[in-house]
Amino acid sequence: MRADPQPRLHAAHALLPEGWARDVLLAWNTAGTLTTVSPDTPAPTDAPRAAGVLLPGVPNLHSHAFQRAFAGLAEYRGERIDVSTETRTDASADSFWTWRDLMYRFALAISPDQLEAVATQLYVEMLQAGYTAVCEFHYLHHDPQGRPYADPAEMALRLLAAARQAGIGITLLPVLYQHACFGATPPRAQQRRFVTGTDALLDIAARLRAHGAHVGIAPHSLRAVGPRALHEVVAGLHALDPSAPVHLHIAEQQREVDDCLAWCGRRPVEWLLANAAVDARWCLVHATHLSDAERRALAASGAVAGLCPSTEANLGDGVFDAAAYLAAGGAWGIGSDSHASVDAAGELRWLEYTQRLARQQRHVLASPAHRQVADRLWLGAVGGGARASGRALGGLAVGQQADFIVLDDSGTLAGLDPPQALANHVFALAGHGAVRDVWVAGVQRVHEGRHALERSACARFVAARRELLDEV
Ligand SMILES: [Zn+2]
Repeated sequence: MRADPQPRLHAAHALLPEGWARDVLLAWNTAGTLTTVSPDTPAPTDAPRAAGVLLPGVPNLHSHAFQRAFAGLAEYRGERIDVSTETRTDASADSFWTWRDLMYRFALAISPDQLEAVATQLYVEMLQAGYTAVCEFHYLHHDPQGRPYADPAEMALRLLAAARQAGIGITLLPVLYQHACFGATPPRAQQRRFVTGTDALLDIAARLRAHGAHVGIAPHSLRAVGPRALHEVVAGLHALDPSAPVHLHIAEQQREVDDCLAWCGRRPVEWLLANAAVDARWCLVHATHLSDAERRALAASGAVAGLCPSTEANLGDGVFDAAAYLAAGGAWGIGSDSHASVDAAGELRWLEYTQRLARQQRHVLASPAHRQVADRLWLGAVGGGARASGRALGGLAVGQQADFIVLDDSGTLAGLDPPQALANHVFALAGHGAVRDVWVAGVQRVHEGRHALERSACARFVAARRELLDEV
């Protein structure tokens, strides 16, 4: 009996880590790892051909899956109710912090089944939007009363199940959350599903590893984790797996920076770099508010700046100075975070546009080596996203996972050369991306824009969201 031939794909044009190449033949093994990436190779007669430009898939480095349940539902001006007089007054100061109160209502209500339904829909959407992997910054550990489930990893396992159903790669980052604010302030009642001891958190990480998951950890923020627990949980993780990633929220809001200064006299990134061995295993999410010295030191550390431009815009966080950070050689990647938008190309467009608005210039994030903005941003997001995922997801190269997408060449992209097609995908098709086919670990998950679960996942999602809206 003849063994199945090794899976292959030939692309007339592909974006390799070193730039655009023609006539690229890819082959991968049964583990989904690329074994051949061969440019200037004529298409073998029996190899399937990509139906358009081939790009590496983008790892999504920051996601809170449950927040997809209320994406788009907090876009109205709030009111404050005076309970004694039952009068309503306009709230002119909606902010991250008022949004967080609504987020907590969903967080307190969502069940394991609902989380799995919401996450499955989200992961299908991610695949259709050009993401091939996701890092889940997961803090909903306990039941709504704040008690551990019979399996303490129950909720994280639902995310793993959702990722496996949808076929997206996942790095699970169980979150350590202990305090309401700097200085070990006791957690609020609304935070009861998040709060764990360090050992309990490491136990969740070990359980997830036993299920075959890729696992790191996420000390939530310097607000929520004190110095000693931060040290212990990172040491505990690296005893389990020396290469596992560590993510944390760092400086999303100016108030967070001010509170940190009041606590210790240092800014968040300044404090972290002085008190933890931050290296390429670390991802600092929302490194929005940096001094020049912090920016240079973060870039030199090898850590990844986790940028979530559409969520940071949605929440009014501020603008990350990407131009200065990239000039310093810093690693970075993108995340859809609250899922205000699930669109890899859209995050990159937002990233460049925030720089243009702040500097009143164009093509801010291009470089002499990559004059096309979209080329540089796509490759940067893949490289930084791979590092933050702690996995071999670094693009179209031998030894990396076979995660790639094909742009649809049959519509308005027809007739363009490859850099023009990618630039169109990122800048000109806003909201109507051209992702046609998607492979993860060498398995095709999206065919001509469609995912096999898109109808069933959507139906389950809508039902779960209806239940949640009736509850909150
Ligand atoms: Zn976040």
